[in-house]
Amino acid sequence: MQNSYLTNIISFIIIVFFSFFAIPLSSQSNLIHRIEQQKQDSVARKQLEQSVERYQSHINATDTLESEDFDDDIMENHPASDLYRNIWSRERVNPYETPPSALPDSIYIDCSEFQMPLTATYVTSHFGPRWRRMHYGTDLKLQTGDSVMAAFSGKVRIVNYEPRGYGNYIVLRHNNGLETVYGHLSEVLVSENQEINAGELIAFGGSTGRSTGPHLHFELRYMGNAFDSEYLVNYSNAVILDDVLLITKDRMFGYQVQAKNLASQSRSKYYTVRRGDTLSKIAARNGVSVRTITRLNNIKNSNKLKAGSRIRIR
Ligand SMILES: [Zn+2]
Repeated sequence: MQNSYLTNIISFIIIVFFSFFAIPLSSQSNLIHRIEQQKQDSVARKQLEQSVERYQSHINATDTLESEDFDDDIMENHPASDLYRNIWSRERVNPYETPPSALPDSIYIDCSEFQMPLTATYVTSHFGPRWRRMHYGTDLKLQTGDSVMAAFSGKVRIVNYEPRGYGNYIVLRHNNGLETVYGHLSEVLVSENQEINAGELIAFGGSTGRSTGPHLHFELRYMGNAFDSEYLVNYSNAVILDDVLLITKDRMFGYQVQAKNLASQSRSKYYTVRRGDTLSKIAARNGVSVRTITRLNNIKNSNKLKAGSRIRIR
């Protein structure tokens, strides 16, 4: 590894040296592109080395345990297994408990084999806050019975039905480290643990679960964390923006702060102070403690309450 790295650096220096002195200006942009490529390759190689290391230490750790886990057998030789620490659960869409803060700052994902989940479609609802809730996917127009295809190759992790949410849905684990979710399906054509190729027919679209009309709810997730699929896909042209997806924490997962705020806003409750009100009266009337009110409003117990002012009680 060390050797090839050195060779790389030397060839890199030689290329740079010769290019700027011997190559005409017209081909220098070409060269810059190649340098960029080399940089990306070395980042990817470093990540691979790290994941191999992690995998080996994981094997060493599990060797000492006497676990003959069926789940581990399923994931054997699965390239994404070390990333997901061999968690192969059908119970939850996100069983990993890995918040974005625990992720590296930037991650490169090979998306070159991407296939559109629908042949002809457009976005009917984007990823992001919607009706005071977070919408963790992209809604894509379809007619009930339209073919739904796997975005990448991989393995079916979940086939399930959620009457008040996704309806009939599928979760796929992909070899490139991503997971995809397909919701509101009318019919599922695959079963759990089945290997899938990119572009393979996996279901027919529909309007099951919480849905107001036929559409595909499509999610991209990394380590359980959903991010906007439009960072990767241009749905109006049915193409991906780049073969390599760069996942950066701030850009992709910054919304989680926003989502938390939305959640606390929808839970919060206010009270308008009436003449003669005291903190303890208000607290008793609303079933909360005085301490909660002073904390939420950043006031002291001794503060005089002004009639007509609005204070937060939840
Ligand atoms: Zn949706």
